[in-house]
Amino acid sequence: MTLTVRFAPSPTGYIHIGNARTALFNWLMVRRHGGRFVLRLDDTDRARSTDAFAAAIAEDLAWLQVRPDQVVRQSDRFDRYDAVKAALVAKGLLYPAYETAEELDYGRRRQRARGLPPVYDRAALRLTADDRARLEAEGRAPHWRFLLPNFTADPFEPERREVHWDDLCRGPQTVDLGSLSDPVLIRADGTYLYTLPSVIDDIDLGITHVIRGEDHVTNTGVQIAIFQALDGTVPAFGHHNLLTDTSGEGLSKRTGALSIRSLRDRGLEPEAVAALAVGIGTSHAVEPVASVDALAAGFDPADASKSAARFDPADLDALNARTVHALPFERVAPRLAALGAPADPAFWAAVAGNCATVAEARTWADVVAGTGLTPVIAEEDRAFVAEAARLLPAEPFDGDTFRAWTNALKAATGRKGRGLFMPLRLALTGLDHGPEMAALLPLIGRDEALRRLSP
Ligand code: GLU
Repeated sequence: MTLTVRFAPSPTGYIHIGNARTALFNWLMVRRHGGRFVLRLDDTDRARSTDAFAAAIAEDLAWLQVRPDQVVRQSDRFDRYDAVKAALVAKGLLYPAYETAEELDYGRRRQRARGLPPVYDRAALRLTADDRARLEAEGRAPHWRFLLPNFTADPFEPERREVHWDDLCRGPQTVDLGSLSDPVLIRADGTYLYTLPSVIDDIDLGITHVIRGEDHVTNTGVQIAIFQALDGTVPAFGHHNLLTDTSGEGLSKRTGALSIRSLRDRGLEPEAVAALAVGIGTSHAVEPVASVDALAAGFDPADASKSAARFDPADLDALNARTVHALPFERVAPRLAALGAPADPAFWAAVAGNCATVAEARTWADVVAGTGLTPVIAEEDRAFVAEAARLLPAEPFDGDTFRAWTNALKAATGRKGRGLFMPLRLALTGLDHGPEMAALLPLIGRDEALRRLSP
């Protein structure tokens, strides 16, 4: 069977770095082993899902170089879910319950007071057809619960019933269905919670590997029971550790915290975002990569650690700078042109090492062009700089010109080290730091250099 994975966000907000981790774990499985990647939009919550967020998710994945083979929307599949619902009801595996939220809450408190786990007591299973008709006549609409297979003959006598799987990230896992309430699969307003549609889709789409965050571990116990109730093949499951922000808080799609969009807008490279999203909280050092797909070499979901990983934007900035330094000119040329910087390999070779983002190339383009630049010449360096102007070699300039020039200046003035180099940098760039002067000088050119040396 073809390895088939899915990334299943709800289009209720922008995806963040933690969602990107899930998407990329799935994507890299496919890049590493071959197979298919499905983007499934979990939009059963029609009130909170929007087309704009769905489009933004597709865009953000494309930016991350994740290319789905197929896109499906749960909202297109309600007929199918309704058919499965009917089948489960017919088998007695899905039953209507009428308790209000307050009644359920009261029930849970009473269980706790008796020292019992707050598990739903299946009272709705005792209702007769007449009881149900009466409740519905009162205006109560049922929600629907899945009857967990945690009993031998009597559902009111639940037993320990372990579900096991060998998690791709966490190793052997166990969930005891005997300790869980029958999950609500359909709300009283008729809307589906994510649990059932997800299993139906995973079966229909032939999903072989479900890789998602560890907040779904308990769901997996329940969903394996649903797979079995539907005679579906149970996929392999992997639950990776979650990311938190620097204060240890979980990331939320609703707050827009660390959204992929905001990282892109800050000028970060997708390769850097992806490398950190995948590598953080694993046993590997996070290194810059030339492409997102390059992360697939050696990718193993089992390398994710078991505890939450703290995501620090400062780490991303540092990794981004290293990624930018290594960007080849061909990749960056159109972006340099768009920035109004020279789309010239010599320019990029000169400035790349001083750019923490590609956009910073613009600053160095201005330095080369002299835009807004005021040469800085200290009083005590005036004579030295005048001498430098006199000794500036004739064109053509190349990578050796600066060395030849400074050697001549050293011989003529006796200056060396910082006293020799800094006045030239300050006069030619107006700054005390920046790219190698040997690389900048040919870009500035002789006439412009002379102008800056003799203001
Ligand atoms: N929509 C679910 C979520 O974002 C999907 C979970 C899953 O991958 O099954 O949490």
